[in-house]
Amino acid sequence: MKVSRANIRWLDSGLPYSNKFDDIYHSEDDALGESLHVFINGNNLINRWQEQKNECSVFTIAEIGFGTGLNFLQTCHQWQLTSQHPRSLHYLAFEKYPISKPDLQKILAVWPQFETLSEGLLTSYDDHSSGCHRIILTGDIILDLYFGDAKEQLSKLNNYHRSVVDCWYLDGFSPQLNEDLWSDSIFQKIAKNSAHGASLATYSVAAKVRNGLTEVGFLTEKKNGFARKRHMLCASYLPKIKKKQTHKQSSDREAIVPQWHEYPLPKAVTRTALVIGAGLAGCCTAYSLALRGWEVTVVEKGSKPASCASGIAQLSLRCRLFKTQSAISEFYLQCFIYARRQFGYLSQQGKFAWQECGVIQLNGAMNKSHSVTPELLCSLYDEAVAKPMSSDALGAIANATLRDDGVFFPGGGWVDPHSLCEAYLEHPNIHHVFNTEITKIESAGEGWSALNSVGSREFNGNNVIICTAASANQFDCLSQINLEPIRGHSTLLSATDVSNNLATVVSGTRSIFPSYNNEHCISASYENLYTENSQFHEFSNSNIAFAQELFADENYLGDIAATEQVAVRCHSADRVPIVGLIPDWSQMRIDFSELSRNAKAIINKAGAYYPGLFVNVAHGSNGLTSCPLSGEFLASLMSKENSPLSSAQAQSLNPARFLMRELKKQRMD
Ligand SMILES: Cc1cc2nc3c(=O)[nH]c(=O)nc-3n(C[C@H](O)[C@H](O)[C@H](O)COP(=O)(O)OP(=O)(O)OC[C@H]3O[C@@H](n4cnc5c(N)ncnc54)[C@H](O)[C@@H]3O)c2cc1C
Repeated sequence: MKVSRANIRWLDSGLPYSNKFDDIYHSEDDALGESLHVFINGNNLINRWQEQKNECSVFTIAEIGFGTGLNFLQTCHQWQLTSQHPRSLHYLAFEKYPISKPDLQKILAVWPQFETLSEGLLTSYDDHSSGCHRIILTGDIILDLYFGDAKEQLSKLNNYHRSVVDCWYLDGFSPQLNEDLWSDSIFQKIAKNSAHGASLATYSVAAKVRNGLTEVGFLTEKKNGFARKRHMLCASYLPKIKKKQTHKQSSDREAIVPQWHEYPLPKAVTRTALVIGAGLAGCCTAYSLALRGWEVTVVEKGSKPASCASGIAQLSLRCRLFKTQSAISEFYLQCFIYARRQFGYLSQQGKFAWQECGVIQLNGAMNKSHSVTPELLCSLYDEAVAKPMSSDALGAIANATLRDDGVFFPGGGWVDPHSLCEAYLEHPNIHHVFNTEITKIESAGEGWSALNSVGSREFNGNNVIICTAASANQFDCLSQINLEPIRGHSTLLSATDVSNNLATVVSGTRSIFPSYNNEHCISASYENLYTENSQFHEFSNSNIAFAQELFADENYLGDIAATEQVAVRCHSADRVPIVGLIPDWSQMRIDFSELSRNAKAIINKAGAYYPGLFVNVAHGSNGLTSCPLSGEFLASLMSKENSPLSSAQAQSLNPARFLMRELKKQRMD
């Protein structure tokens, strides 16, 4: 999950030089001119953008070899200079050895014409972890920056067999220096993800490249190269033409095998949606849709946003740690990185205050059976994400003497979730309705109707997203899902002169936050819903006692408990959020019934899902981390964009996973 950064040497000429590949990153002559000639003009982008202004809503470019980001910035610059173009630009870039942020800063300073774009990129640039880093650069430009081996990352792209890429830039170090990046298996993946007619440009005209691209269905053509280079290569993905040329019988694309977790393509419909529930899940989803131009109505039964679990006075952002690399551990890592990026952006806009003070998790906080040793932690996570430290070192950061060693999340922090939810809902494309409970969702023609508690229609349209946490299974379409409500008490404690100095969130059996409005929030107990109200005061006492245990000074905390807050978390059976299209349970039970007889049966059938009906719940104790990227995932799915989640990650979140598991355990017919 952590990646190796590029090993750069600076030449006397001021150019960055790769020690690994023994070459300079960009041309000595006129790097900008070369980028314009080879990639922008080589793909005929300006004309295509102008021609396609009404045809497609998203234009997708993918670059193999992100390097210094020069081609990306050049593309954004040209996009902004072109007055008429499709609605948005989605740029996918692959890089195995990311340039460190300080080096990138130095490199980009050479191109003042890109100053604003470079600043936007650098603010959001995290150089340390593998996977997809989603960066929303401007209202109409999204960058999905994939760090890690290109072959591996390309094979994780998850677009439900849609080939989303309209244009490719191949700009890795040359085939002689970096053979892997120009291999047949990379070319096959490029073909698999190419829309029919997709273009490709590269500076390399090596026979291996021409032949490899031809073999997978590209029609290649040598064109004049830039400056001293005689040739460059342009190509179009036209697999049928290629088939005629070579009389090859088999299909060029990998065989498409439908599977249960594959979602159908959304129909081309008006971009309107209803989000039910204005907690973090609902507000994040609404915001991501609104950013893409959707008109969103958010209906909430409480009198304001964040009126349930998302309404605790302070919530902390930290990365949920795992002992092994898996789709789920990568999901939480990506979520953590994305959430802090989004909070930083909103905070910079003055919409709310993101308190990036870091989070300390003392060793006692971890369930022993799940504890991650410092060695394991260092092998999986970059220290920019999570760093094991001694109690003394942690104490120096927290400004308090701590009892235990632990882990520091330098990029963590805390938010007032109520003001965060308000910041999301401020988007002009979002309309909200409070004090209204949705009790029923009915199918209505091609879409859905949502009825309130007096049976009146609140919404009629194609897309509904249920974000109502533990009460989601009150809707018929989700009655099959087992959701576990777990109550939590948090206590607000008056700060003292000493405790006012606490500089970070400190977590152990409880978490204590730096003072806010002269109070510390202490979170939280785990109780089942049937706890007697009369026992509530005991939870406050134990919250304070557990928080006090984090500190060496026995009188660190005062004892004036101001108030307490009670809220219910929503957990799924496997402790992973439930996010995606809602399955047509009975149809899927029929389609996949063979699994209940033979758990290993291979059923090549796409799952049956209700078109336009989505769910986003079960964020457990980590909703501040997982809600922002989950919202992005749904918005991308609904807008037919490249998904920020890999196929395995989306599968781990898919609501139908429980049915598949149950069938395999032969518990159902
Ligand atoms: C005490 C406590 C401390 C926590 N601390 C942290 C922390 O430090 N960090 C962290 O990441 N997570 C923390 N969590 C978990 C986090 O709060 C949740 O994961 C997150 O808030 C879940 O957001 P949600 O939108 O899914 O649910 P909710 O916030 O519960 O939102 C669901 C919304 O749906 C509305 N609703 C329900 N039914 C209907 C209906 N029929 N019609 C209309 N509206 C409806 C509800 O009123 C509610 O506003 C904590 C939770 C608790 C309880």
